[in-house]
Amino acid sequence: MSTTTHFTLSQADIPTHWYNILTDLPEPMPLPLHPATQQPITPDDMTPIFPENLVMQEFSPERWVEIPEPIREIYALWRPTPLLRAVRLEKELQTPAHIYYKYEGVSPAGSHKPNTAVAQAYYNKVAGIQRLATETGAGQWGSALSLACRLFGLECTVYMVKVSYFQKPYRKMMMETWGATVYPSPSENTGFGRKLLREDPDCPGSLGIAISEAIEDTLHSKNTRYSLGSVLNHVCLHQTVIGLEAIKQMEMAGEEPDVLVGCVGGGSNFAGLAFPFLRKKITEGKPYRVVAVEPSACPTLTAGELRYDFGDTARTTPLMWMYTLGHDFMPPKIHAGGLRYHGMAPTVSHLYHLGLIEAVAYPQTKVFEAALTFARTEGIIPAPESSHAVRAAIDEAIKAREAGEKKVVLFNLSGHGMLDLSAYEAYLSGSLQDV
Ligand SMILES: *Cc1c(COP(=O)(O)O)cnc(C)c1O
Repeated sequence: MSTTTHFTLSQADIPTHWYNILTDLPEPMPLPLHPATQQPITPDDMTPIFPENLVMQEFSPERWVEIPEPIREIYALWRPTPLLRAVRLEKELQTPAHIYYKYEGVSPAGSHKPNTAVAQAYYNKVAGIQRLATETGAGQWGSALSLACRLFGLECTVYMVKVSYFQKPYRKMMMETWGATVYPSPSENTGFGRKLLREDPDCPGSLGIAISEAIEDTLHSKNTRYSLGSVLNHVCLHQTVIGLEAIKQMEMAGEEPDVLVGCVGGGSNFAGLAFPFLRKKITEGKPYRVVAVEPSACPTLTAGELRYDFGDTARTTPLMWMYTLGHDFMPPKIHAGGLRYHGMAPTVSHLYHLGLIEAVAYPQTKVFEAALTFARTEGIIPAPESSHAVRAAIDEAIKAREAGEKKVVLFNLSGHGMLDLSAYEAYLSGSLQDV
């Protein structure tokens, strides 16, 4: 074969430490505030919801956080993940650019989300917690946490937005296969859910309602904690295994990326790829351009405001300094369910504010057009969320063609779309529309 296209690391190359970008920020980030007192939140405020070891990690002053061996052993089920060069896509685009992608869809749940789910389940287990409660929209986070809880012998309760529970049954079946209990939210299981069902028995639910139910369940049960799949510092920290592996793999390929690309919902897979490279940008002056890609139906970075806001609709979480569309923003029902979040990780928000990263937004028809080009050249059917990154990577390669420049583009393919085929059907039949 003339070109090497697959860069594989061995099990010994699974990172031993996560990278904490908080220690390298050129300016510190504004702290989260207590919703009642408006004072910076203390670790004690958070321990009814999260175990103390994860709370400490949220505020960690360490640059490199050691990954406990039991977590690395589970990572070895699918890590290191492959990094590939998309030569067939490059040919199709007739671009001099080299396009690389890191593929996180090889995890058992089909996305990057188990990277943090496994870590969170482990820390809860060693803290003596017996059960985790969480919410899920389309089911990607719920399935990742169900898997992780099973592997560490924890119970798992998932509040799944009711419309998705009925419209997207396969993710629910995955969660139940891994042993989780899944409730359509609003449910009869919490006071908040019962109240909403009394007012409207057909209430379709929302992520905000499901978060409120999972938190109520946590606060009213013994030995139970809550778990969040994006946004928070410790979640972005756990995801940095993606970028740390990618740095080694780009070295194997003998190239340095000019442009890094990731899709953003709450920001965690983007952070995972980008933060280790941003360390080199901040500390070694590497000239990487780093691009966050969002749906134009939920344009948090490109059209939101930087201010304190709640993480949920019911105003129960701390106030976080972030780009936001407002905690009561109701995003249209686009197919990339994982990108329908009103806020953005405070770290990603801060980096955008400092000008260290860029952002771009795309409507979903443009995104699916790119997803099809990718599926028809590279074979993998990307998740609708990940397809936003595919779109931006393709556009970077087209720009390079027009400028006659050899650019190296690296993007994160955060998951596969094998459980999102109805979205592809809508696109192929011409019924998919921009909102
Ligand atoms: C959940 C999800 C996302 C969005 O979440 P982030 O925290 O922004 O990464 C992106 N891609 C896939 C495949 C997902 O499951």
